[in-house]
Amino acid sequence: MCGIVGYIGFREAWPLVIKGLKRLEYRGYDSAGIALIGDSGLNIYKKAGKVSELENFSVGKNLSGTIGIGHTRWATHGAPSDRNSHPHTSNSGTLSIIHNGIIENYATLKEELLKRGHFFNSDTDTEVLIHLIEEIYKNDDVDLLEAVRLALNEVTGAYAIVVMDQNQPDQLIAARKGSPMVIGVGEDEYFIASDATPIVEYTKNVIYLNDNEIAFVKRDELLIKRLDNVVQTPYIQELEIQLELLEKGGFDHFMLKEIYEQPRSIRDCMRGRIYPNEGFVQLGGIKEYAEKLKNIDRIIIVACGTSWHAGLVGEYLIEEYARIPVEVEYASEFRYRNPIITEKDVVIAISQSGETADTMAAIEMAKEKGATIFGVCNVVGSSIPRLTHAGVYTHAGPEIGVASTKAFTAQVTVLTLIAFYMAQQKGTITKAKMVELLTELDLIPEKIQRALESNDLIKEIAAKFKDSRNCLFLGRGSGFPVALEGALKLKEISYIHAEGYPAAEMKHGPIALIDEEMPVVVIATKNSSYEKVISNIQEVKARKGIVLAIVTEGDTEVKKMADYVIEIPDASEAFLPLLATIPLQLLSYHIAVLRDCNVDQPRNLAKSVTVE
Ligand code: GLU
Repeated sequence: MCGIVGYIGFREAWPLVIKGLKRLEYRGYDSAGIALIGDSGLNIYKKAGKVSELENFSVGKNLSGTIGIGHTRWATHGAPSDRNSHPHTSNSGTLSIIHNGIIENYATLKEELLKRGHFFNSDTDTEVLIHLIEEIYKNDDVDLLEAVRLALNEVTGAYAIVVMDQNQPDQLIAARKGSPMVIGVGEDEYFIASDATPIVEYTKNVIYLNDNEIAFVKRDELLIKRLDNVVQTPYIQELEIQLELLEKGGFDHFMLKEIYEQPRSIRDCMRGRIYPNEGFVQLGGIKEYAEKLKNIDRIIIVACGTSWHAGLVGEYLIEEYARIPVEVEYASEFRYRNPIITEKDVVIAISQSGETADTMAAIEMAKEKGATIFGVCNVVGSSIPRLTHAGVYTHAGPEIGVASTKAFTAQVTVLTLIAFYMAQQKGTITKAKMVELLTELDLIPEKIQRALESNDLIKEIAAKFKDSRNCLFLGRGSGFPVALEGALKLKEISYIHAEGYPAAEMKHGPIALIDEEMPVVVIATKNSSYEKVISNIQEVKARKGIVLAIVTEGDTEVKKMADYVIEIPDASEAFLPLLATIPLQLLSYHIAVLRDCNVDQPRNLAKSVTVE
């Protein structure tokens, strides 16, 4: 969840590491710190708060050095404070470490180390690890690489770490298990980071470290071993990220920029995959399993948060078109049950980052039980795509805003494609119907562009809702996951309590909350449940609730009843989620801005949830 940056080379490390931490700040951001070895030896600067606070704190200090490590923290063990910020140091103070993840057996290790006279400066699990490394380094007569390897063999949990030794300023040691880590390969320089965003402006050549691998990095040398001491041949890949996507490009926030990117990101997601005239879908990433799809019993979708909502949309579409039963599970619940999974099941794991810890654990469990696993991820080269049998990337480009927008609609697009692909394999859809659906899907990016034109109106409506304390979102059919996603977006970034409900369920509970102060956002587009939703709106109005309805362009009926309406272009039910989500994203965005909330980095949240 946190961000890690390491550098060794010929450039000054400080500016590079600070810039890298800013790029990674979206991953976790309750504190930041940097350690450098320069002309005056080891210097460590760390501060609770944002990277900019660390930057201000370091003004006028000695920031020299061509080797350095930096960290943005998302606290798990110990409050966010200066002393708990990373880097942490060993007992002698010569070794420093940055760490992403959790050392689960830290308490036992700490007890042992305390008995041996170690003194700790923080409450973190991380500090225990660097003390353990030093203990082995000193007592076992081994080099530092071996000491790190032996120590990691003693710990349980998840980690990505980088270790630096004041007495050996020509080397960094990095390792990972369950937390992402990328090594950028330059000429006489190496970059280490949690993801490729801090690296891309210096080199496009990267190595994704695998779980249980440890890297020994010098300015002109790289050695990768497994934790069981077997040397590995590094596999260098070329990065495809464009630098512009990591900048705000004139928008006030990444979230708004990413909302506006959706016509393009959805187009990118469909490129080369749909052939409307032929009524044909091609998904290269899962084509090896095309035959198998004809005979599967069931699909289980596992995901967390927004991805889980995309999964619910997937359920509607796959059942509707491919006629395969689908279950949608929270990965965190699924992994701790003893679910019935057979070899005839396909598990689809959805994760923007491709690093979500619970989703990864769910995949491992389902894999052990013989299921075929597909991944739907955004970050190319991340852990989940490497853990699954096959998959379909969403190609939405880097998403920096913590609240997911374009990644969600790209996930929904991919699941739509998967549903159509499965239907095509199973023959549950006619060619003519497929031509019709794909022709319409092909026009969705333009319709999203039109939906974005309501931005000014939505801003005005946001001003009316900004002081609400609660908000209800209602939808039916595939409008229900849209309502859930709308509610989640609002609570994530504006801290207004919001609930998403199937519209018909309102009368079984939430209706009790409705009064003249309660905004109710209703997905009331012209689809199969239109008439029923109208009745639900009547029920809200009868209790003086304030209704904001998302309606189909040209609607007159809902307009008569609702207090506010936002129009979206007409579309078949299958594509409703892609369009109806757009005004809800904008609504949350503007409400959060008006409430002065930190839109891109909402409190307590991190972008990629790499801890359980
Ligand atoms: N467990 C470590 C801590 O609380 C690392 C957390 C992180 O990944 O940022 O300091």
